Amino acid sequence: MFQSATLKLTGLYLMIIVAISVFFSVNLYHISVRGLENGLQQQEVFIRIQPGFQGNLDLPSLLAEQRETRLTEGKRQIVAELIRSDLLIIILGGIGSYFLARRTLQPVQAAHDAQVRFTADASHELRTPIAAMQTEIEVALRDQKLTQKEATNLLRSNLEELAKLTNLSQGLLQLARDNEKPPLELVRLNGVFKQALERVKKLATAKKIIVYDNLKKEIKFTGNETSLTQLLVILLDNAIKYSPGGSRVTLNARSATKELIITVKDHGIGIKAADLPHIFDRFYRADSSRSKERVEGYGLGLSIAKQIVQSHRGTIAAKSNVGQGSTLTVKLPLTKS
Ligand code: ADP
Repeated sequence: MFQSATLKLTGLYLMIIVAISVFFSVNLYHISVRGLENGLQQQEVFIRIQPGFQGNLDLPSLLAEQRETRLTEGKRQIVAELIRSDLLIIILGGIGSYFLARRTLQPVQAAHDAQVRFTADASHELRTPIAAMQTEIEVALRDQKLTQKEATNLLRSNLEELAKLTNLSQGLLQLARDNEKPPLELVRLNGVFKQALERVKKLATAKKIIVYDNLKKEIKFTGNETSLTQLLVILLDNAIKYSPGGSRVTLNARSATKELIITVKDHGIGIKAADLPHIFDRFYRADSSRSKERVEGYGLGLSIAKQIVQSHRGTIAAKSNVGQGSTLTVKLPLTKS
């Protein structure tokens, strides 16, 4: 598909080059012929005033004949020169156009490939819980002696799968709304921290993990409260999910001259150096997250976190040591209001 688009674009660029070069060649031809005619005329005048030629009656017709011959020869040479240079321009222009067309289409192709990968990953993730639900329901329907308790368990399990599907579709929807900028408002960081901690409390309590909030002073800035709360929930949720029970997670914030720096530090399983560059990619999950004690997730959390940070013109980065823990750092520009 992109090969034929590249060729079409090359053809288009080449047509533009040919049109420009023909336009200049035609003009150049007329200018050169006019110059040649003037030169021949001046030469004729010069010959006519020579003392030896004055009074020669055959001279005008001789000169006219000679002028015609030279003009025809001159025109032929100009045309040949122009054709040669035009051919060179077309050959070089063709090669240049091809490379230019490839460069023009490269980002489009990358975006297209990413879209295809995203759709394939999304359908795969959607299919898994649907297939699980379908199998469970089919088996239950075939079971003539299905008890009330078994039916209740089945419905409960289906409900869990549905909750996962809802989560996944919400994540997908949010990523699809990439271009929508959240409305900006005055945000109090204490409030954001409080809401985020409240939302991860259940998970932290279940794993006996204590989350320390190190925010000492009130920080106010311009941003979107809802999405910033979601950002912290994603980072805290990961810190808790990928940490052993009973460990510590620390949420820190400080404001430098022009930026607000938020860190979420855990003492969990850590991220391998090879995985670090990819953790913000959609659907990327390090192998450790899929291993024996499978941790729930679709690999969308950090992509959404990155999207939120970017919509606030900030940056997000991760540092980690396997077996020792990870620190996720968010830097947001501070626009005082
Ligand atoms: P998931 O739903 O899998 O948690 P994320 O996009 O939030 O998806 O994270 C991507 C991957 O990055 C995770 O699968 C995990 O392998 C790794 N990861 C993210 N945060 C942490 C962390 N705090 N500790 C260890 N690994 C992490």
